[in-house]
Amino acid sequence: MNKKRVVLTFPKETVEQPITYHLIKDYDLMVNILSAKINPDEEGRLVIEISGQRKDLDKGIDYIKGLGVTIQPLAQDVNWNKDRCTHCTACVPLCPSAALSLDRVTMKVSFDSDRCILCGLCLKACPYQAVEILF
Ligand code: SF4
Ligand code: SF4
Repeated sequence: MNKKRVVLTFPKETVEQPITYHLIKDYDLMVNILSAKINPDEEGRLVIEISGQRKDLDKGIDYIKGLGVTIQPLAQDVNWNKDRCTHCTACVPLCPSAALSLDRVTMKVSFDSDRCILCGLCLKACPYQAVEILF
């Protein structure tokens, strides 16, 4: 079983395509929607985790690309600037996926991009703009 977390960016003409339905039904993939910002009048963005057999994942990703939807790894869209972080911990209780976590021994905050679901909850909480979401 292989797993990928990706960000899909939809041109407005593809926003209403039932992409997740086809990934599940036609490509035998499991799809977990992590976050979605879709406005029918504008570009849409969907953060999903897709899992399945490698060959099915590759076919599913080719299907998405064939629709004109941009697909990129989630980690490319989030950046934690550790030099800006003062380890104030304001973000830690807000982070739903524990991507931002506190080591209670060192009292240092760290960031794991593989856990981040791009929900954006930490952005307003951080006084130093240490977390950036690049879309
Ligand atoms: S955007 Fe911030 S709060 Fe949301 S999962 Fe990522 S690190 Fe946590
Ligand atoms: S809120 Fe910002 S400065 Fe404070 S611990 Fe989180 S990332 Fe670091």
